[in-house]
Amino acid sequence: MATHQRLSRADFHRSDNVSEQVQVCVRLRPAVGTGQDQEASCVRRVDSHSLEILNWKNEMESVKYKFDAFYGETATQWDVYTGSVKPVLHHLLKGQNASILAYGPTGAGKTHTMLGNPDQPGVIPRAVRDVLQMTREASEDKCRYSVSMSYLEIYQEKVLDLLTPSLRDLPIREDRNHNILVPDLTQKEITSVADFESHFLPASRKRTVASTQLNQRSSRSHSVLLVLVNRIRDLPTYSHQTAKLCLIDLAGSEDNRRTGNQGLRLKESGAINSSLFVLSKVVDALNQGLPRVPYRDSKLTRLLQDSLGGSAHSLIIANIAPEKKYYFDTLTSLNFAAKSKQIVNKPFTQKVLPQTGSWKPAKPEETESPHNHSE
Ligand code: ADP
Ligand code: MG
Repeated sequence: MATHQRLSRADFHRSDNVSEQVQVCVRLRPAVGTGQDQEASCVRRVDSHSLEILNWKNEMESVKYKFDAFYGETATQWDVYTGSVKPVLHHLLKGQNASILAYGPTGAGKTHTMLGNPDQPGVIPRAVRDVLQMTREASEDKCRYSVSMSYLEIYQEKVLDLLTPSLRDLPIREDRNHNILVPDLTQKEITSVADFESHFLPASRKRTVASTQLNQRSSRSHSVLLVLVNRIRDLPTYSHQTAKLCLIDLAGSEDNRRTGNQGLRLKESGAINSSLFVLSKVVDALNQGLPRVPYRDSKLTRLLQDSLGGSAHSLIIANIAPEKKYYFDTLTSLNFAAKSKQIVNKPFTQKVLPQTGSWKPAKPEETESPHNHSE
């Protein structure tokens, strides 16, 4: 009984007074190219928290970044899931929200990390399976859990339902208790992984097909899977409680101004750049404990307002690729991820240095210098 009281007081403090920081981990995918690309990887694992990347202004130097976790080329889906994602899930049973976001340029492994494939299932199938199992195990006569899902995409600052596709931009609302809701969004109850797949896979497939017809749209929109954990207590003093898990495959973070600058592309790029910029501002504000967090400045952060910061448990997985052509996008990702994390300059270990000094990424624009972050 005493333990019970202590526990509930701790929970109270946690949810009401403690603002959780956003955890940040980085995942480096293996090289998928051949030949040159593979020889001169510009990123390298240091330890389970750190990596180093060559400094393009001085090849003799590298910059070391430290994160909550670093997953190198050999890390498996299981490593990422058990190391960084699974520990977050039990908070859902206590009614606390959580969000997991995959960030990075197109091709760096966001979808592999979040979705994976049947042989290497990613965060989404593993988390859904575990949430279903956890809620089954925790259910008893007087306290039952049910799980439901919604699936949406944010494209050009429009919130679109992926379970009941339409072009309607769904409004985001906030209720009296500061819960964020999308009232018109389709919600499906799920009791098994098969249930989940029956809703999720067709929607996911449709999105991928549309993306090849429509300018790789899936790289240009944020996909958001919401898993809602409802607790119903049959006791007069307790009411219904809902916790939300948001699983997000973000739009590609590459500098879209470089790749396309006309018409639809320009419009898409503007929306992506500004929503990822707002996301970085929000993470920054949360991790620095700033009084104002600009959630309302984009649809994505508005939707995540109750699941990012506050009492919510959030994790950003920054996906990076080792190839030279990704160098500047990698720096952008690391610098996005490194807000308030430790960064140091150090000499690059000789054996990884290119022999001829030929290592130079194509420099797109002078303004993209990474150096304000390496000091
Ligand atoms: P993104 O969603 O960021 O555009 P993808 O997840 O589609 O990137 O990854 C690009 C390619 O790299 C895919 O063919 C994917 O299977 C592969 N890939 C990504 N990450 C890994 C990894 N950790 N191990 C093996 N292959 C990977
Ligand atoms: Mg993808």
